Amino acid sequence: MIVGVLAVQGSFAEHLQALQGLAVDVRLVRSPEELEGISALVIPGGESTTIGDFLDKQGLGDAIEEGLPIFGTCAGMILLAKKMVGKQKEGQSLLKKMDITVERNAYGRQTESFEAGVKLAWDDQPFPGVFIRAPRITEYSTDVSVLAWRGDVAVLVRQGRYLACAFHPELTNDARIHRYFIEEVAKND
Ligand code: GLN
Repeated sequence: MIVGVLAVQGSFAEHLQALQGLAVDVRLVRSPEELEGISALVIPGGESTTIGDFLDKQGLGDAIEEGLPIFGTCAGMILLAKKMVGKQKEGQSLLKKMDITVERNAYGRQTESFEAGVKLAWDDQPFPGVFIRAPRITEYSTDVSVLAWRGDVAVLVRQGRYLACAFHPELTNDARIHRYFIEEVAKND
């Protein structure tokens, strides 16, 4: 199985490393041709406006096949959302794959970046959540399952073949969420 990591900007090298610890081949993706033959795609954190512009300019957004499993972290989660509220940049483009509404940079100045334990739905051991100018999920449809919470805010959500989280699992040594994506979301059944 080849997993692509969108390598425009942001934490793609860390995703590459996290995935290499799992039994998959990993490929950096920067063009539509590099999407060919991959079984899943990771969209890293970074700046959703920059990544979105790149996806548009390279024709990558359109080249992503319907149903390709995608894991979006932070900025990647913003790109997967169908709706955005708050600090949306004029004309910012989204891939619009998941029935979630997100607010960009939703945490105030003081808590712009922080670490917090996150409760996963499938494991009692808390996950070290690294939040960096994180988006917040403000609404989600009944087709979306919440797989992790921070307090009463959903921070890891799944809708079919799409997985999105507000924090950065690639910046920790904990591969549980990457493993979940590979084994539960992306695997062919
Ligand atoms: N604030 C960023 C954005 O709006 C996301 C931050 C991140 O990916 N760490 O794109």
